[in-house]
Amino acid sequence: MTFKNIFKLFTVILSSNCFSQNLILNGNPSITNKVIFLDFDGHVAVGTLWNSGNAVNALPSTVSNTNKINIWKRICEDYRPFDVNVTTDSLRFNNAPANKRIRIVFTPSSAWYGSAGGVAYLGSFSWGGNPGTPCWVFENQLGYNAKSMAEAASHEAGHTFTLRHQSTYNNLCVKTAEYNPGLGSSITGWAPIMGVGYSKNITVWTSGKSSVSCTTIQYDHGGISPGITSQGFLNYLADDVGDVSATAKILNLNTITLLDSGIISTPSDVDAFKFTICVNRYVSFNVKPWALDTVNYDGANLDIRFSLYNSSNVLLATDTSLTRLRTLVGYNFTPGTYYFTIDGGRSSNYSDYGSLGKYFISIKSNNPPAIANTILTNSAICSGQSATLNYTSNGTPTNWQWTVSGSTITSSILQNPIIQFNSAGLYTISLLASNANSASCISIQTINVGSLPSISVIGSNSIICPFESTTLIANGANIYNWMPGNYSGFTQIVSPSVTTNYTITGSNGSCTNSIVTTVSVSPNFTINVATTNSLLCPGQSLTLTASGANSYTINPGGVVSNSLILFPQITSTYVVTGSVALCSKTTQKVINVKPDFTVYLTASQTTICAGVTISLTASGANSYTYYPGGLTNNIIVVNPTVSTTYLVYGTLNQCSNSNQIEITVQNCTSIEKNNDFLYDFNLFPNPANNFITIDLGNKTGTIEIINTMGSLIFQEDLNGINLLNVNLNNWTKGIYFMKYSNKNNNLKVKKFIIQ
Ligand SMILES: [Zn+2]
Repeated sequence: MTFKNIFKLFTVILSSNCFSQNLILNGNPSITNKVIFLDFDGHVAVGTLWNSGNAVNALPSTVSNTNKINIWKRICEDYRPFDVNVTTDSLRFNNAPANKRIRIVFTPSSAWYGSAGGVAYLGSFSWGGNPGTPCWVFENQLGYNAKSMAEAASHEAGHTFTLRHQSTYNNLCVKTAEYNPGLGSSITGWAPIMGVGYSKNITVWTSGKSSVSCTTIQYDHGGISPGITSQGFLNYLADDVGDVSATAKILNLNTITLLDSGIISTPSDVDAFKFTICVNRYVSFNVKPWALDTVNYDGANLDIRFSLYNSSNVLLATDTSLTRLRTLVGYNFTPGTYYFTIDGGRSSNYSDYGSLGKYFISIKSNNPPAIANTILTNSAICSGQSATLNYTSNGTPTNWQWTVSGSTITSSILQNPIIQFNSAGLYTISLLASNANSASCISIQTINVGSLPSISVIGSNSIICPFESTTLIANGANIYNWMPGNYSGFTQIVSPSVTTNYTITGSNGSCTNSIVTTVSVSPNFTINVATTNSLLCPGQSLTLTASGANSYTINPGGVVSNSLILFPQITSTYVVTGSVALCSKTTQKVINVKPDFTVYLTASQTTICAGVTISLTASGANSYTYYPGGLTNNIIVVNPTVSTTYLVYGTLNQCSNSNQIEITVQNCTSIEKNNDFLYDFNLFPNPANNFITIDLGNKTGTIEIINTMGSLIFQEDLNGINLLNVNLNNWTKGIYFMKYSNKNNNLKVKKFIIQ
């Protein structure tokens, strides 16, 4: 199955200064479901049988764009009769069904395979897979020669349609050549595509002895399996021009020159053209096959056979030369209706089986009709459009009879009627013009009204959120243009920053239509999260409030609200999702909570006699306040006379906690009291302002206050009074002494200050 490199080719490195990755060429752009993809820009083949299952990293082709176009044109002509698009567009390959496509990789990377011009797997066109199993053309093994590369490509693609080689055998049925080298030379030198045709001009599909055996005839197409048209691979194109006089394409020959074209698509296809002559005229018919040039007819496949008949099917002239491809026939006509046929022809080297392809007709004549000749219409008419009919004339007609036949028939006697073409299809326009002196021939023009694409868009009029994208897919046409952006392709992923109208223009051949779709972008917004407090003590609460959107969800908890009171015990992260219409955004808020702590409170004694002094010790915080008393040391001294609960507030890192302790005071006998207690008393506050309180502990005796001059300022006899308040208003600021004495003349003196 390899296409061996028969020549010992020298290697020529062509410059690639015009190299482009984006050479988009389509041989039959209206066909999307069967594709032969010419892959020039490098390919990594993975997951295939090639290279023992190992990846093949094929470098891009190095040939020039000119040569790529040349290669593409040659291959297009080889596959012209079939319903397949020969393309360089990878998107066309990607969008085709996986079992209806083949990738031909043009590459100088042949070392992994060895010495061959190309290689393919039989039948691999329908193997499927993504990207699937390619076939190969090794340009370095073909001297980077465009003709050789095109021959190899059509040949290898032929293998992917299960074609085997066309071979030669001797009279004893012994194979003499695996690759049939063909016959002849120059313009009509021939070889089968499935043989070897590097040195032949006419390289075509062939019916001949296959490599399987001397008696196995392989019809490359149209026969029984194998073949291009077998197994659902490809079909012949629908016939473009009728085969006989009754179905012939009508030409308007009321002119000096006329150009037309068509395709011979099957071995039995004949294209018939009919015309009317109304004055004696000489007309020449020049028919040429498609080729890269019109001197050597390089790359041509079709050998034209031309025959001219009158309306009684009598053959008037023919051109069946065996040594050239084009035909040229001239004839002196008398008025009447005639037709000619174009067919594939044979030579001494080949039959007409493979003589398929495109042809171009050029008709020249003299002495055109005097009154009205060519009918003119818009160059391209699409369904739903109207056209103004016009004509060219050498005379001055004064009467007009127009008839337009097609899906509807319309007549008019206006000079320039406007005709509405509501449906696509073939229409025949005829005009009989006259004046008082003479009539013209009937001018006849056939026009093909194209189908106006009805374009729709999947994903149209969508609404997206800011910074999102959406995919638009256009339907109804073959090729598309997107504005703004001037993009091509049937689908686009768009991410407009503002609401945008996209105009999608699609065309089927010459008919174009457009549609506008709007991608609306929702307004951008920002979620703001505010809190009443950003740093909490354990047990405290705060209120979280979100703004900037229309609705909110607060997590954890899934609370749907814009505001929430929170009691975090530890530092926590809250996630707020805000929505406006269909768009949502998320923001986070961290609430810091200070570490928890415990205030400890101990007493030197918890059960005491009345008036005994004890100490209270607080710990666990940085600062403290005791109640009753309001003292702020961590250790305080108290001497309660009744049972008292002491409360301490401890503060750490601006958070406070409390603890308490109960001191039980018992009534003890005097013997149990220490002596100090008998005479001691407390003064507070000291220093004092407006008053001073004397805590006597239920003593009896006398209190005296003496100033620094030794003068007695205040005296009071005590009679079991517990607390004595002395009003200090109007007293002079300064130092005073308070003296306590009882009946036994026990004394105790304390100093205090009025400030
Ligand atoms: Zn081969």
